Amino acid sequence: MNVSRRFRSVGLDVVALIVAFVIFVVPFIFRFRKKAAMSEDAPTRFEIVCDHCGKHDTVPFQPKVGRSVLCKECHEASRSRAKFV
Ligand SMILES: [Zn+2]
Repeated sequence: MNVSRRFRSVGLDVVALIVAFVIFVVPFIFRFRKKAAMSEDAPTRFEIVCDHCGKHDTVPFQPKVGRSVLCKECHEASRSRAKFV
């Protein structure tokens, strides 16, 4: 019958559409998720101005407001100085 043949062709169209969807959209989602995971891995850096030498630097933590922030060099210098005291 004519109607059943048309139904079958519509069914094939839907299958082709799903296959096309899987082929085109799945790699896109996969890539997007990979990108999101990569940006999550990257450490968040906060820009600071050193309280000791005034140098601009970035630190991997959120600097507390009202507390002195030191750049990497001054921080290490103050740490090594503390060792001797
Ligand atoms: Zn400094």
